[in-house]
This record gives sequence, C-alpha cells and structure tokens, in this order.
Amino acid sequence: MNARTPRLVLPKPFLRRLEGAGIYCQTWATAERQARTGRWVLRAVESGGASKDIGRYIGFFAMSGDRLPWLQRLDRITASGVHAVTVADELLSVEMARCDQTYQLLIAAHRLGPIQEMKRPPVLSTVVYRGVDGQLSPELRQQGLTPEFFSRSGEVRPIPERYVDAVRLVTTGVTCINCRHTHALVERPAPISAAS
Ligand SMILES: [Zn+2]
Repeated sequence: MNARTPRLVLPKPFLRRLEGAGIYCQTWATAERQARTGRWVLRAVESGGASKDIGRYIGFFAMSGDRLPWLQRLDRITASGVHAVTVADELLSVEMARCDQTYQLLIAAHRLGPIQEMKRPPVLSTVVYRGVDGQLSPELRQQGLTPEFFSRSGEVRPIPERYVDAVRLVTTGVTCINCRHTHALVERPAPISAAS
C-alpha cells in the first residue's frame, strides 16, 4: 500500500461495524512484475459486500469506465470479502461505502510510476470524483439508479457520464447482503477459435 493512495475517509465506529459484519474491502492496487516478460503491471482485488444496514465495495475498471476481465476468481468460505483479481497497466477504482441509504463514493485512477532498474515502481493514484453523503432509496436502487451527490452549496454534482455504469455496478455490490458475486469484473472472453 502507498501512503498517497486516495481513500474514502470513514469514521472509526463505521469501520468497526464493517469488521463486525465481516465485510472486507481491499482498496489498494499493487505493482507486480511478470517474471516471464519482466513487465510491471497493476494488481487489484475486487472485494466487499454488505449486511442489511451497511456495506463497502470496490470494483476496478478500465480508465474509460468499461468493464475488465478477471484474471482469476477467488472462492472463499466467508462472504463479502475478496471476489476476483485483475491485472492491467492502469486501473480505475470505484469504491463505495453505505450506511443505510447514505453513500460515500470515491473514483480514483491508478497508474505505475517511473520504472527504475530492479525497483518496484510506485503506484500513482489520483482522485477522479469524490461524492459525499449521496442518497438513494431502496425503491430507486431497485430501478437501477445510482445515489445522487450534492455540493456543500446544494448543487447536484453529477457523476461523470462515462462512469455511471461502473458506479451502478458498485452500487449493486455495496447493497448485496452476504455477497459472493463479482459485480464489476467479467469473465475473459474465450479466444476465437481458428476453426470457426
Ligand atoms: Zn453480490
């Protein structure tokens, strides 16, 4: 993990409640070296879930907001933990926390920093969008909407259009009780057979 990683700032009692509910969210990306090619990549783990009252979930996407394939799924005894791993040159994270109908949102971009010989490059992360205390009723959630966020002066702060679908998927995760799904990453498409 990296001290400069932008994060959702969550109060300690909320974090304790998440821990008590067994909801685990791995919110960082790491730099990993592929031994065969010597290439550095980012590795991240989609994770999280919900109980009835609270939730936390992080999904990873392409910078465009498009869905990425998973490298592998992670089956675990416990729910609302790690779901699947992805590796990519750059990643967009969409992280949400939910207390009842109130949502916190952080969208961040992650890239590898300069690569110096034999040294692990830093992960450079920047905030793309931060939404504080957004509201979404269960009725609107069932219609597939995302929470709505306001500025401190009461103006709507729209989620950037190209990330709305990603936020919608993560909204599903942060409201999914005892989650065992992979809401954001998708199965890698099968290679096109030469015979077909
Ligand atoms: Zn789920």
